[in-house]
Amino acid sequence: MNTRRKFLIQLAGGVGAASLLRAPAVASDGPAKVKESDPLAQALGYKHNTQDVDQEKYPRHDDSQICANCTLYTDPNAKEWGPCSSFGGRLVAEKGWCSAYARRA
Ligand code: SF4
Repeated sequence: MNTRRKFLIQLAGGVGAASLLRAPAVASDGPAKVKESDPLAQALGYKHNTQDVDQEKYPRHDDSQICANCTLYTDPNAKEWGPCSSFGGRLVAEKGWCSAYARRA
């Protein structure tokens, strides 16, 4: 492969990677809602409703733990859906839960 062709391929790869890195967590109509099917949500055991959490898998969970009283829910006044720093500011359900839960003091 000649040097110019190699350079163009590397450039295209770099632009693609840069585009991914700049992909906004905030769509034009506001932050996206986290889906339970998202890979990160699945890794953290996120559920929209704390009562749906697998208690055997997460024995330290209890139903009083909800996103709205988690320190990572960055807008405590947000109703129904609010931003979560564990998910890069995307929205999680007010009554949701994940294994990164940390009760707000
Ligand atoms: S880190 Fe806290 S606010 Fe974010 S999803 Fe988990 S429990 Fe909810």
